[in-house]
Amino acid sequence: MSIGKIPYKIYLNEEEMPKAWYNLRADMKEKPAPLLSPGTYQPMKAKELEGVFCEELVAQELDDHTPFFEIPEEIRNFYKMYRPSPLVRAYCLEERLGTPAKIYYKFEGNNTSGSHKLNSAIAQAYYAKKQGLKGVTTETGAGQWGTALSMACSYFGLDCKVYMVKCSYEQKPFRREVMRTYGASVTPSPSMETEVGRKILAEHPGTTGSLGCAISEAVEKAVSSEGYRYVLGSVLNQVLLHQSVIGLETKAALDKYDIRPDVIIGCAGGGSNLGGLISPFMGQKLRGEADYRIIAVEPASCPSLTRGVYAYDFCDTGMVCPLSKMYTLGSGFIPSANHAGGLRYHGMSSTLSELYHQGLMEAVSVRQTEVFEAAEYFARVEGILPAPESSHAIRVAIDMAKECKETGEEKTIVFGLTGTGYFDMFAYEKYHNGEMSDYVPSEEELAVCRSKLPRIE
Ligand SMILES: *Cc1c(COP(=O)(O)O)cnc(C)c1O
Repeated sequence: MSIGKIPYKIYLNEEEMPKAWYNLRADMKEKPAPLLSPGTYQPMKAKELEGVFCEELVAQELDDHTPFFEIPEEIRNFYKMYRPSPLVRAYCLEERLGTPAKIYYKFEGNNTSGSHKLNSAIAQAYYAKKQGLKGVTTETGAGQWGTALSMACSYFGLDCKVYMVKCSYEQKPFRREVMRTYGASVTPSPSMETEVGRKILAEHPGTTGSLGCAISEAVEKAVSSEGYRYVLGSVLNQVLLHQSVIGLETKAALDKYDIRPDVIIGCAGGGSNLGGLISPFMGQKLRGEADYRIIAVEPASCPSLTRGVYAYDFCDTGMVCPLSKMYTLGSGFIPSANHAGGLRYHGMSSTLSELYHQGLMEAVSVRQTEVFEAAEYFARVEGILPAPESSHAIRVAIDMAKECKETGEEKTIVFGLTGTGYFDMFAYEKYHNGEMSDYVPSEEELAVCRSKLPRIE
């Protein structure tokens, strides 16, 4: 194999690491729509949000104009424990595919939580601590966010209460125990602990839960416990802001070798890793400095961008959270109990939704079995055992590299490899045993959820 002058892994040294997060909204002419109050349908004011979220995080959430936020030194020090994450040139994959395409991936799985979620968890824990809170509550779907948050909370000595989607709680006992190792308490959701949990259980007995349900429970717990606030691992503007560290590092690494990507691909659940990865590139695009193809990949089982509608909707099943204008399947949509894990969310970041609406990015959906086929192929060629979520991006990157083989195009493809899949071995087992199904919701099913969207002019 010939190894070009570009190394297998491009690292940054400490001085080259980002010192500020980049706020993509500052460069958007059409801003994402504001969050609305669930009671009045009026834009949420900082004061109202501060009952639920930490103050500084609310300020970040509402700020559509400041392009850069300095990363506090304490957070930069924590980042140094596991960052920069490597930008890997996938030489082995390219060779195996026989493609002229050049493939890079930004690998975020090199920390104990196993995903990019730690980038925002540490920031949110820091601001909670700074505000003098006792602890935070949250939900977790596949478990990565809860794990990341429990690590961040233990670092700052904060209490951490996690509502874990019931099917994950049962399928991923090891994730649960990692969280408890870091001192978090973990409750399967829906639970009998909260009013909203009891209500959901009464309406849908035997439900395996969803992120939307777990969010409602965590919010209720936070607002009814003194000294607690709620934190969220995706979807929100503040999370995309923190995750911009992924894109800033990626861009700095590419710039070092004068590499200009043609295509940037990321999986999209709530949109935080994709929003973070693309942020500096999309910023250039918005300012007219460069152009890139940007592709969001979502599961065919939970296709909010490709089959949802762009409308105001509740962020949670219990309808206690603010409403966000986003591509949504309806907050009543409960995805099938499949293994797309962290991508099982009915909505999408309002920032990404607005960019998609403006035609600045594309979206595709892929089926579960083709995702696992790509995951296994990737594991065997590149060595890393990918998370199922990340493998959505792998699928599309491989398909594109195969197309390049047909056309002879030497495209430069960058994709986000958001995490590792060690805790997803039940899903891999199903795939290996040929027991994995490709559930795709019918039009009728989607129409029912869509008809229940709140009507807001
Ligand atoms: C949570 C998660 C995702 C999806 O969340 P986004 O907010 O869309 O980034 C993707 N990959 C991994 C490994 C995750 O843990």
